[in-house]
Amino acid sequence: MFRATVLTLYPEMFPGPLGASLAGRALERGAWSLEARNIRDVATDRHRTVDDTPAGGGAGMVLKPDIVAAAIDAACPADDTRPRLLMSPRGKPLDQTRVRALSAGDGALILCGRFEGVDERVVEARGLEEVSIGDYVLSGGELAAMVLIDAIVRLLPGVMGNAESGDTESFETGLLEHPHYTRPQEWEGHAIPEILLSGDHGRIAKWRLEQARDLTRRRRPDLWEAYRAQHLEKGKP
Ligand code: SAM
Repeated sequence: MFRATVLTLYPEMFPGPLGASLAGRALERGAWSLEARNIRDVATDRHRTVDDTPAGGGAGMVLKPDIVAAAIDAACPADDTRPRLLMSPRGKPLDQTRVRALSAGDGALILCGRFEGVDERVVEARGLEEVSIGDYVLSGGELAAMVLIDAIVRLLPGVMGNAESGDTESFETGLLEHPHYTRPQEWEGHAIPEILLSGDHGRIAKWRLEQARDLTRRRRPDLWEAYRAQHLEKGKP
């Protein structure tokens, strides 16, 4: 079973949106587990201090290495082989390939930063893998951790209603997904493309692939280049 252990200064933020809908129902029936641990619980001084001013000066505060290390060690014994992740805008951008790999494992320990971030030494000493959810800065790692967990949980066996619905989704094929339509057949003067009503599954699949390719070429040249290099003959559009 996939076990998510989250280290945070705001455990009350969990499960939050992860307690609803697909992820929430899966959590309820025990398809995955979630433990949110308060980093502050390992602080021993009178004020339960977890942060200090940045060495070298500058604004903000930094999470202390001894505190973060103690929180990790308390949550994750040495024989716990789950990946240890630190949500961080400096990390490798999260993608579907990494999400899939994580969903195939036993779980993850996820550290949520706050303030200016975490002392660099503990990142190295505890082998934390920095993961970013995009090129923007959030005020804390909690929402980023929820994004990561949600993306993982929906891929766990039996969580998605239709087992197939993952396969053609954006990024799974290296492309953005084709457009979707549903009833009514005509809406505000716009009709569903004829081909989707033809019942010809071969032609529909071909049309969808063309749409996905066209969309990816226009919207995400970076993905398109990678797809083209892998799937299409050199020079063929
Ligand atoms: N000083 C940091 C920097 O410039 O890289 C930003 C710190 S941010 C205010 C506080 C925390 O939010 C980070 O330690 C991280 O855990 C989380 N965070 C912010 N943006 C993120 C992102 N794009 N992806 C993942 N985590 C993020």
